[in-house]
Amino acid sequence: MKILLTGPPGAGKGSQSERLVKEFGLTSISTGEMFREAYKNNEKLGIEAMKYINKGELVDDDITNEIVRKRLSKKDAESRFLLDGYPRTVAQAKALDQMLSDMNSSLDAVIKIVVDKQVILERMVGRRVCKQCGQTYHLSFKPPKVEGVCDKCGGTLHQRPDDQLESVLNRLEIYESKTKPLIDYYDSRGIFRSVNGDQSFDEVYAAIKKALEDVI
Ligand code: ADP
Ligand code: ADP
Ligand code: ZN
Repeated sequence: MKILLTGPPGAGKGSQSERLVKEFGLTSISTGEMFREAYKNNEKLGIEAMKYINKGELVDDDITNEIVRKRLSKKDAESRFLLDGYPRTVAQAKALDQMLSDMNSSLDAVIKIVVDKQVILERMVGRRVCKQCGQTYHLSFKPPKVEGVCDKCGGTLHQRPDDQLESVLNRLEIYESKTKPLIDYYDSRGIFRSVNGDQSFDEVYAAIKKALEDVI
């Protein structure tokens, strides 16, 4: 099972992928996560990527493709993976196709989580993330048991620097111009499905599972 979750920032990709990965034993490949991890570990790649990320811009295609290429070549990504937030441009989608065909493989399904702008903004301003383990919360929709403290590891919650309103608006524009064209790219291959993301966590999850019925 090789799937891609796409959709605008704040659609709920990370939240849903966490559950899918657990239930179906998939290897999670999130480029955003990988960049943040590399930055935390003071790696050159992470420091370079963060210059783009903090402004709400996309990281260069070549840099992004390269980290995915490395990740996909590991044993645990051979037959079961979930891509979250990659590809984000048609050039990346073409690079991914090449990587997969080199491995005699291809994507089974592309799921888009659909939400409108008002919902996105509400979700983004309230998103809080654990500095230590990366777990995601929401001030109103998924609050931690103790304010400001991660339920999982006791770490401190913070707002990602790129979740400031200005950066979010920039990311939404970039999504419209660079990432949305992916829909036609995958739709023409018959592997594209969309689900309504403006429902509870559980309802969105059920809708995704339904959309994946034939590949599960
Ligand atoms: P993405 O990975 O697409 O950017 P996230 O999964 O991080 O999105 O979700 C963005 C924010 O919205 C988080 O704070 C998350 O807790 C919240 N959220 C996600 N899905 C829902 C939902 N179905 N209902 C309410 N809040 C949600
Ligand atoms: P969100 O789901 O909130 O959009 P992500 O964690 O997926 O956040 O990504 C955070 C940031 O990392 C993006 O805004 C972008 O700057 C960078 N990034 C992540 N994935 C890619 C990608 N495939 N191509 C280019 N930049 C990326
Ligand atoms: Zn934590």
